[in-house]
Amino acid sequence: MITTRFTELFGIEHPIVQGGMQWVGRAELVSAVANAGALGFLTALTFPTPEDLIKEVQKCREMTDKPFGVNLTILPTLKKVPYTEYRQAIVESGVKIVETAGYNPREHLPDLKRAGVKVIHKCTSVRHGLTAERIGCDAISMDGFECAGHPGEDDIPNLVLLPVARDKIKIPMIASGGLGDARGLVAVLALGADGMNMGTRFMATQEAPVHENVKQQMVENDELTTDLIFRTLKNTARVAKNTVSQEVVSIEAKGDATIGDLAHLVSGQRGRVVLEKGDMDYGIWSAGMVQGLINDVPTVKELVDRIMEEAQQIIDRLRNAYS
Ligand code: NAD
Repeated sequence: MITTRFTELFGIEHPIVQGGMQWVGRAELVSAVANAGALGFLTALTFPTPEDLIKEVQKCREMTDKPFGVNLTILPTLKKVPYTEYRQAIVESGVKIVETAGYNPREHLPDLKRAGVKVIHKCTSVRHGLTAERIGCDAISMDGFECAGHPGEDDIPNLVLLPVARDKIKIPMIASGGLGDARGLVAVLALGADGMNMGTRFMATQEAPVHENVKQQMVENDELTTDLIFRTLKNTARVAKNTVSQEVVSIEAKGDATIGDLAHLVSGQRGRVVLEKGDMDYGIWSAGMVQGLINDVPTVKELVDRIMEEAQQIIDRLRNAYS
């Protein structure tokens, strides 16, 4: 049993979080994570309308009586997103934990706070973490350069990012990026985090609502099988390397690409086909360097239990070795 400020604040058993993943954060996965004693997040924008999000929250509640949350990602999108309506849907659904990601969540905080919602802001830099603390977020999820999705533009990996953040930021912090096993959990606790977030690792579980080909691809891939796209647009995303990501990288290498030049390749609707139909070169899909640590497709409970058991063994081994 590892109790931290994070587990106490959010009323969960284990210091493990399944953060927001577009098209993946659905009730099947999130309820399995909750039932395993960790904290899972539905991804608001996975659902076409705010009403659909409310229905998914209800579905998730029927599948677990443990806490879970909703992720609201605020980044550039190809189509305009009604963020206010999604926020209102979150409040209406009665969910009490929100993970914001991307831009400063300031405009969303008053409504969320009034409704008694605790907010974890996902940051990729210490300065953004300090802002999150100052505007009243309850915790941060610090996302190192290793992560899948959007690592920001500073390129600081967790070995430096986490202790620097810990020295400057007081609110509870979970670590995100490059994490997939007990060694990662113990390491980030040592670096000053109060828990860890896993995205890619949770995609390679039985309950993750993605095609079997995607899960097997993550087992086959290694730590080198990612690409950084949108570098030239200052909206960097780490994605699984495939023929589409390579095409995007080569278009950007010419130096003057606009989102208009890339949209036909990178649209989330194409990425969704990869995840749902298993057509691995149809579009872009997110996965991190942690693929190098993924060798199997367990159930969520097997994964969480294994991490917690092995973390305890590592802590005991270190205690015996150095006492
Ligand atoms: P989308 O189809 O609107 O856009 C596809 C990609 O292009 C996204 O990464 C988006 O940030 C980027 N993009 C769009 N317009 C842009 C612009 N003007 N300048 C620079 N980049 C631009 O998005 P989607 O795939 O439907 O995703 C919805 C939301 O979820 C977005 O905010 C996206 O960034 C985010 N997302 C998160 C993850 C994750 O959790 N790891 C994965 C995919 C997408």
